[in-house]
Parts: sequence; structure tokens; C-alpha cells
Amino acid sequence: MNNDLKRSIILDNYQFPSNRKIPNDDSYIKINTNNESCIDNIDLYVKLENDIIKDINFEGEACAISISTTSIMTKLLIGKSIKEALNIIRNYQNMIEEKDYDANILKEAIVYNETYKQPSRIKCATLTWNGMEKLLKDKSLN
Ligand code: ZN
Repeated sequence: MNNDLKRSIILDNYQFPSNRKIPNDDSYIKINTNNESCIDNIDLYVKLENDIIKDINFEGEACAISISTTSIMTKLLIGKSIKEALNIIRNYQNMIEEKDYDANILKEAIVYNETYKQPSRIKCATLTWNGMEKLLKDKSLN
């Protein structure tokens, strides 16, 4: 994927993010994620049914990297089982950490594959993914 395409995917998900809203029912689990080294402060709202992620919404103030990757994450994880979602998250974290990862399951999220070149943005790119991982791990223990 060339850099122009990457930029346009990031910009599109920043300007027109998917699933950016506060849900109007209380069956969603809420978790706050924030990054003190940037302006990022995002609430994630996750609706689980048994071990399936039925919906993810988010809202908050954050930079372009953080908003866009959260938008992409919601699209990737909605409809997945907790186990599948944790695997996708692990692959994304591996990509950011320059380890081996499966590009096929990350789809659009591979636009962040050179984030390691800007270490200050690593937190922005992983903030909500790490928050989602924590939420799902907590839930899968129950
Ligand atoms: Zn940020």
C-alpha cells in the first residue's frame, strides 16, 4: 500500500469515522482510554452478547491517528467473537511493535504499519486497541 493511499484512508476515517457516537441504551460496557502525551481521551462502548461483539461505539476528543484507528478497529471487531477479536488485536500490536503479524486479518489497519518511525505516535495508534483488549480479557475471565 503506498503512502498516498494510507494517508487517504487515515484522513477518511478521521473526518468520517465509523461508529463514533454514544449509544442510547445501557447494555453497553463503557471503558475510558486516555493518553497523557497527546490530547486523546476516548470512551469505548462495547455491546457483548455471549462471547460475540455485537456493537462498538466510541466518543471523545483525540488526534487524527487515534480517531482514525479507533474507527478502523470498530469495523474490524464488530461481529467477531472475543477470541477472534483478541487475535486481531494481538496482530495489530505486533505490527506496531515491528514483530510478525498477519496482514490479511488486519485489512485497512495496516495503514499504521510504519508508526514505529514516529515513536511519539505509538501511544495514539494503540490506545483504544489496548483498552479493548483489557475489556475483552476481563470479560472472557467471567
Ligand atoms: Zn494522539
